[in-house]
Amino acid sequence: MVAHVPTMLAMIIVSSLMMAASMAVVGWGRRRDGLGHWAAALLVNAVGHLLLMLRDQVPDVLSIVLGNLLLSSVFVGLIAAIYQFQGRPIAWLLLLAPSALVTGFVIVFIDNFSARVGFVGLVIGLQALWALATALERRHATVGRGLWLLVAGLGLEAVVLIGRAALAVSVKGAESTILQSSGLQTLTFVATFFVVLVSSMGFVFMSRDRADENNRVMAALDPLTGVANRRSLISALDRDVARAVRTRESIALMMVDIDHFKHVNDEYGHPVGDQVLCSVVNVLRQRVRAQDLVGRYGGEEFMVVLPDTGLSGAEQLARELCKAVEVSRCRVDGTEGDGIAVTVSIGVFGGRLESGDNWDMLIAAADRALYQAKENGRNRVEVATVLRRPSAHAGAGANPETQPASSY
Ligand code: GH3
Ligand code: MG
Ligand code: MG
Repeated sequence: MVAHVPTMLAMIIVSSLMMAASMAVVGWGRRRDGLGHWAAALLVNAVGHLLLMLRDQVPDVLSIVLGNLLLSSVFVGLIAAIYQFQGRPIAWLLLLAPSALVTGFVIVFIDNFSARVGFVGLVIGLQALWALATALERRHATVGRGLWLLVAGLGLEAVVLIGRAALAVSVKGAESTILQSSGLQTLTFVATFFVVLVSSMGFVFMSRDRADENNRVMAALDPLTGVANRRSLISALDRDVARAVRTRESIALMMVDIDHFKHVNDEYGHPVGDQVLCSVVNVLRQRVRAQDLVGRYGGEEFMVVLPDTGLSGAEQLARELCKAVEVSRCRVDGTEGDGIAVTVSIGVFGGRLESGDNWDMLIAAADRALYQAKENGRNRVEVATVLRRPSAHAGAGANPETQPASSY
């Protein structure tokens, strides 16, 4: 099938302009995503193809020299967009070098169509490969599947342009002007049209998927201390409890509460209190294993979930944490001396679970132990070895401690 070249050029121009406008709207105010650079590249693509379309109606210096310069510059914008998306500095001079090369070559070979198509196709094809390699380099840090659309579009563009370049120099007289319709021209411009749509959609999806992922992570973390918030703690605990019931492995849970924290706030002020909270969290985090989860249960109370851990191991770790907080002084901005000393009380539950046990029973048990630690003088660890299970005859609502919390 041979398509009418000016019609195809018009389709590329219109689709580039529409995509550029959509991306400019979506990317407005989100400079770090690279959508602005991508939109600018699409705009350049539209103008470059417009100049091709106007061959013989405008001076050659515009249609041939500027047209090819712009088509090569499209990939400068696309690569810059990918760099910006990845948070890397953009080496503009390096990116612009192929465009300078294209311009010089086109000026020298302005009367030689096949040499021009061969060289320009090769350089732009390599630029497409450059963009592709740049995108793939950080593929493990890219969330979602948008990257694969981007790669499909850029890969096709590279193959078609380099293939076309090879044909242009090896098959003489295939066509002698850009506007002449042929199977090869049709393939080239269909590929360009495809690239504009598919790669741009892929890039928009990459940006949207990353924003979604950031929101998901932020929704799971406590904004002050950066550890899991109450919601994600409970869902992790719920999952670990279900697994412990299934596998009959032990599970342990700690409730850690800072002693007399109100005095810290009263003496140094709330902002310093905030820094003390972060400092205690750091001490806890540094000492737990990779599979353990530290989170902020609320206020100055933290929870540590310890999968595959028995009571004695959890108790020993709790004593170490208690000691570590006691000896570490919280260094606080703007205060004199060697920091603020705080202590914690820890309630620990550990043991095997039975079918029907749930996360709120574990929290209730660790809470009872914590209360005991406070009663017994603070800066200490107490343990709970049993869960309060509803008796077989009691109604579901008989013991409020065993009811799942209504909200978390
Ligand atoms: P206890 O040893 O019995 O635990 O005494 P406490 O003073 O630590 O306990 P209490 O529950 O009476 O007070 C907790 C204090 O923690 C009160 C509250 O203002 C403070 N607090 C809770 N959340 C934050 C926070 O995000 N930042 C700061 N700076 N303080 C907080
Ligand atoms: Mg407290
Ligand atoms: Mg408290």
